[in-house]
Amino acid sequence: MAIAENINKIEEEIQKTCDKTGRKRGEITLMGVSKFEPVEKLEQAFNAGIHCFGESRVKEAAEKLADFKENHPEARIHLIGSLQRNKAKQAALFFDCIQSVDREELVAELEKHSCLRNEPLSVLFELHTGEESKSGFAVNNDADFNTLFKTVELVLNCEKLKPAGVMTMAPYTTDTSLIRASFRQLVKARKELEKRFPKIENGGSWEVLSMGMSNDYKIAIEEGSTLLRVGSAIFKE
Ligand SMILES: *Cc1c(COP(=O)(O)O)cnc(C)c1O
Repeated sequence: MAIAENINKIEEEIQKTCDKTGRKRGEITLMGVSKFEPVEKLEQAFNAGIHCFGESRVKEAAEKLADFKENHPEARIHLIGSLQRNKAKQAALFFDCIQSVDREELVAELEKHSCLRNEPLSVLFELHTGEESKSGFAVNNDADFNTLFKTVELVLNCEKLKPAGVMTMAPYTTDTSLIRASFRQLVKARKELEKRFPKIENGGSWEVLSMGMSNDYKIAIEEGSTLLRVGSAIFKE
């Protein structure tokens, strides 16, 4: 039961970091990043308490997890990988949340197809806060923010889309100060979004701060993360 053991270890670390920083465990979701993993491993993780999963590819996830989703209606499945326009329909129908909204043109595509959903589709805006990743909205200056705000406005005008927060990937480095700086930039950008869009009509919010992976989730908790995207530390030996 390597996966259950891995999860127990991570849970201990999360609790320790919460205690150290005065945070509550209940305000943080531990996502299992299950891209490339067979469904048997997701079952193991589910039985060990993971109810939120992240996948990076639309078609693969929809095929792999069709039965899993039906058998576990309480499981939430998020898209965390970059989304191509021609996959927007399948993505809008399959996922509970798209974490990787990283450009304006995706919004119209997602809206077009989400009309077939019962519940609105949650979206996170992916922000570019470190050199490592190429995707995400830049948030360095007023012009950057204007581009982001314009895209948020488009989402707010969509009946079947709702903002849930922001997501980022920190640079992959052993230099923790760079990782921390990246997470702080996400927190700061969320403050700007809250200031600009304080009230969201259809149940949307800026609550989710999706940051922290296997190598940096403790730092992410210290910096305020509410959603940890952990893959290898859960699923690998
Ligand atoms: C793969 C991936 C993760 C998980 O990475 P690990 O280092 O395996 O924990 C998290 N977020 C995104 C966007 C990913 O693509």
